Amino acid sequence: MASNTSEYGRQWRRENAEHVKADKARYHAEHLEQDRERSRLWRVANKAHVKAERVKYISEHRDEVLAKRRAWAKTDSGKLAKKAYATYRLAAGAKKLSADDLVTITSDYGGFCPYCGNRITDGHIDHVVPLIDGGRSDLENLVYVCARCNLAKGAKSLIAFLLDRAILAEAVK
Ligand SMILES: [Zn+2]
Repeated sequence: MASNTSEYGRQWRRENAEHVKADKARYHAEHLEQDRERSRLWRVANKAHVKAERVKYISEHRDEVLAKRRAWAKTDSGKLAKKAYATYRLAAGAKKLSADDLVTITSDYGGFCPYCGNRITDGHIDHVVPLIDGGRSDLENLVYVCARCNLAKGAKSLIAFLLDRAILAEAVK
């Protein structure tokens, strides 16, 4: 009976291939943000592994990696990221980032600010836990956000910033 059921399922999928494809595309679009966040968290949890794999890959594909990086630097998102990096470096105590980490951080949310959801047209790199509170300049603690959110957050913790914003939104209602 089970095999009949799965055979029926296969046949249904064959006959409705377009429908299945559209469903998959919709599912993917709806889960894009969760997928991104999941892959970010995975990278953070498996930092050493990711780094070792990346170092190995770069050493084996050096020319390709450099060419890709140069091409990226000329795109709009690459230019924005470079500008954001220059601003970030002005903060006292903000450590240097590798080109690889910069690409990773600035592409995490696909060019959207995770704090307000707007497309980033002027980007900043924010220390989620502020430097002043002991936050570090590494992949776990850096996030690419819009300049507006970063300036509003200042040296506040993420929680304080989000609470203040919620209170403000309530007040202007
Ligand atoms: Zn924002």
